[in-house]
Amino acid sequence: MRPKIYVKEFYFEILPKEIKEEYYPYDNIFSDMDLIDIYINGKKLIEYVYEYEKEYIFKDIELDDETPYDRFSPIPLNKCLLDNCNNERFKRVLGILMCSCQTFDCWDLDFRIFFGDKYIIWFDFTNFHRKEEYKNFPIYIFPKEIYKEGIKNLECLIKKDET
Ligand SMILES: [Zn+2]
Repeated sequence: MRPKIYVKEFYFEILPKEIKEEYYPYDNIFSDMDLIDIYINGKKLIEYVYEYEKEYIFKDIELDDETPYDRFSPIPLNKCLLDNCNNERFKRVLGILMCSCQTFDCWDLDFRIFFGDKYIIWFDFTNFHRKEEYKNFPIYIFPKEIYKEGIKNLECLIKKDET
């Protein structure tokens, strides 16, 4: 059973340059772009995934000295990736986090979004290499107003960055 998380707080932050450079010192596909962390109820999505993997998937592996950024990478985000820009009801989002080796399809996290009248729901989180292993990963339920605020925050962040 996937636990449900009711979202009260939803916002974004650009990964600080020092951290980005520390973890990705070499040229890569995202060199010229900002990576953006997604915060849900004060915790980064990347941390939810990291803790989940530690508990359910990588039980036998020592991960204690690592940080979430050692295993995953936030990606550059845009409004349309997370919003229903084409008035769709359902949407599949591929690679909302990617493997920090920066290879597409290595250890990507995918999920689906349902755009309801009152609630936006993020569900069906999966890594297509390991479908069964993500079956207990939570569902996130956003009241529409909170979701809109979050997306507005993302837009501002991206605009500020361009000017
Ligand atoms: Zn990888």
